Amino acid sequence: RSRLLQQLKGRLTVTPDGRKINLYANIGSVSDVAAVLENDAEGIGLFRSEFLYLEKDTYPTEEEQFQSYKLAAEMMAGKKVIIRTLDIGADKQVEYFHLGQEENPAMGYRAIRICLEEPEVFKTQLRAIFRASAYGEIAVMYPMITSVEEVRRIKAIVEEVKEELDARNIPYKNVEQGIMIETPAAAVISDMLAKEVDFFSIGTNDLSQYTMAIDRQNPRLDAFYDPHHPALLRLIRMVIDNGHAHGCWVGICGELGADLSLTKEFLQMGIDELSVAPGMVLQVREAVRKAE
Ligand code: PEP
Ligand code: MG
Repeated sequence: RSRLLQQLKGRLTVTPDGRKINLYANIGSVSDVAAVLENDAEGIGLFRSEFLYLEKDTYPTEEEQFQSYKLAAEMMAGKKVIIRTLDIGADKQVEYFHLGQEENPAMGYRAIRICLEEPEVFKTQLRAIFRASAYGEIAVMYPMITSVEEVRRIKAIVEEVKEELDARNIPYKNVEQGIMIETPAAAVISDMLAKEVDFFSIGTNDLSQYTMAIDRQNPRLDAFYDPHHPALLRLIRMVIDNGHAHGCWVGICGELGADLSLTKEFLQMGIDELSVAPGMVLQVREAVRKAE
C-alpha cells in the first residue's frame, strides 16, 4: 500500500473527470520543507510563522524573518508558499508580548487583533514577507479575520510597507493576499470579504471550535465534537460559493482538509486547494484521483 502511494509522487492531483486540485502542505517551520518536498506537495498552503516568535525571548528581527521566508521560497523553487502572519495568543503565549491572562483566550486578544494593535510588529513581518517574495512564489494570508474593516486596515498597512520598500529600492513581487476563514462571522460575510482579497483558506480547526462552541483544547468535550457537523459543512459550502462568485479561489488548510471521507464532498463543492500535513499529501492525492 505504501508502495502504491509512493507511485503517486510526480503524478497530478486530478479528479477522474479531469479537474485539477492544488494539493499543498502545512508547515510549522522551515525545517519542515524537506517533508513537503519528500511527499511531493505542490506548494505550501499554510506556513505557520509563529515558530519564529516562539523560539526566541525577544522579537525576531526583520532580517531573521526574511532569511527564513526566503529559504522556504527558494527550497520550494517556484512553487507557492503561503505565509500566514503571526497567530499568537490563545494557546500560544509569547512572554515578551506581555499579553496577560484572559478569561477566554480563544475568544480573546490573538492573531490579527494583536497585529492591528501593534502595527510595528506587523509591518516588520510584512516587510520580511514582501522582501522574500522576490526569491520565489510567496503569498500572504491573515488569521482570525471577522470583519471587512479589519481587511481594509490590513491592506492600508500593506500599502505603507510597499511604499517603504520602494523608498529603499528593495524589490518584491505582486504578492497574492488572502484571509483565513476560521470564524463564523467571516464565513457568513464571505461574500463581502471576497471582494477585498485574492483567496480564502478555510481554517476548519478554529471554525469548528467557534461554530460548535467546543474548545479545541478540551478533551472532555470529545464526545460532543462532530467534525462532520452539518453546520460546518454548510459554512464551507457557502464560503466556496461566495468566494467563487467574486473571483477568489478557495482552499482548506484545517485538519478537515485531510479527512478522506470528505474529499469527494469537498470536490463536489468546488474546492480549489487542499493543504494538509506533509504525511497526508499522497493519501489525499489518491482520494482525489479516485473520486468519481
Ligand atoms: C485552523 O484554525 O484550522 C488553522 C489551520 O489554524 P491553526 O490550527 O494554526 O489555528
Ligand atoms: Mg486557526
